[in-house]
Amino acid sequence: MIKTRQLFDQDTWTYTYLIFEVESKEAVIVDPVLENFLRDTILLKKLGINLVGILETHVHADHITAANKIRNSLGVKIYMGSKSGVQVADVLLDDGDQIKLGTEWITAIHTPGHTKGSTTYYIDNMLFTGDTLFIGGTGRTDFQGGSAADTFNSCKNKLFTYPDDTLVYPAHNYEGLTVSTIGEERKWNPNVGDGIKEEEFIEKEKRKDRPYPHLFDIAVPANMTCGPKD
Ligand code: FE
Repeated sequence: MIKTRQLFDQDTWTYTYLIFEVESKEAVIVDPVLENFLRDTILLKKLGINLVGILETHVHADHITAANKIRNSLGVKIYMGSKSGVQVADVLLDDGDQIKLGTEWITAIHTPGHTKGSTTYYIDNMLFTGDTLFIGGTGRTDFQGGSAADTFNSCKNKLFTYPDDTLVYPAHNYEGLTVSTIGEERKWNPNVGDGIKEEEFIEKEKRKDRPYPHLFDIAVPANMTCGPKD
């Protein structure tokens, strides 16, 4: 049986996820935040589960990853999308590649758009969509090889091919929402939902004037090397 824990970073509104198989006690962590290293490793101990992988959905611009620090202290591998440009990850995942978790498998899905290397992870009726598909939105597309056309295509032709009841767990939400479903996003998402045309979304993205992320110049270079080692 697969279980998850959704964890929150108060400073950057980031969700980190622990995904674990009850029988084997094997766990992976998705998008860990450096400042929460202690909280997350203590939780692993309390739950009595063993980390076997660190999964990044993309190179983050708003926080520094704990990936390297966790790899260094627990000796587990870092997984990232092969288009992320991060050479120091242990495993670069191609579209459709799978990661073993006990007797189950996690599938990596290339979902570019927010960044060139954005990757969604699927296991047990759950999609961990990073900043590709949000609850009622999509991640910004104006830096790191982002592309509105790619976001549209990733959502429409990849994520929306999953059944309506598939759970959507994003990397952020700024309104206190924690989870959604593919069916809800198809129905209500104002950017990529049913009936929205690609040109309409691309035009809307072009017109958006978004602030430069305040940690961008620190976070992106740090995350290209999976964050500090200690
Ligand atoms: Fe992001």
